[in-house]
Amino acid sequence: MGFSAESTIYLFGILALLGLWLFHQRQVRLGRIQAIDVFDRSLVRFYVYVFPDDRLLCAICTEAQGRVFLPSIAEKNGFLPRGRPCRNTSPCQGYLIGLYGGWAEARQVVSLLQQAPKKSLIRLSCVELCTLVKGAWEQSVSADTDRINMHMLQGLCLGKADTRMAVQGLQYVVARARVARHLQLVVPAYLRLLDLLLKAGRVDEARQVIEQVEQRFPVNGPGMYAPSLTERKSLEEMKSLLWKTQSLKVSA
Ligand SMILES: [Zn+2]
Repeated sequence: MGFSAESTIYLFGILALLGLWLFHQRQVRLGRIQAIDVFDRSLVRFYVYVFPDDRLLCAICTEAQGRVFLPSIAEKNGFLPRGRPCRNTSPCQGYLIGLYGGWAEARQVVSLLQQAPKKSLIRLSCVELCTLVKGAWEQSVSADTDRINMHMLQGLCLGKADTRMAVQGLQYVVARARVARHLQLVVPAYLRLLDLLLKAGRVDEARQVIEQVEQRFPVNGPGMYAPSLTERKSLEEMKSLLWKTQSLKVSA
């Protein structure tokens, strides 16, 4: 083989490797793949504290909406995501959702938290929260780990912006939660789902959800993840709202 033919083969080889590297970089930039640490076995790299997007919050909880924390902070005993007690007589209900976060927007949150000085509070605005939730998480390395929690976040953050997607997310949570860290979200997901269905006037679906909850969590029934007294009260309130709506419909 001549010198020039050999050089051409080498050149093609180098160009092919360069092309592959550029393709890899593009996939990483788009959040589709991640150069993952093979020793990283954690399921959660950060927590985000969220309240349902359509609730009127007290001043303390308004300030706490969208706060993000590293597990080293959020998993400490006695950790309080809002810092101070809620000021409402019937307290605003917030949820601390843990994510691995392999997609671009979530990775930005992780590096922001890692670089921030200790004790500083980092908070995502409503727009940033929506961008995080609508990111390409399903194409990321953490899709399976984050799936249930991401659907819960959709249900909490997209109630106003995209009710259909929020409802679908919550339906996914109640149907697919299997392990302890997800089962604790089932009752909150049912309550949020009911609330959204009632607000959207989807009364038949709301009635089915109530029947499902009553079957799954009978009063005085066992279960670690059964509704608390406050959650039972909310359920009863929504139930009576549903009967009122239905009787108004019948009498109209
Ligand atoms: Zn509050």
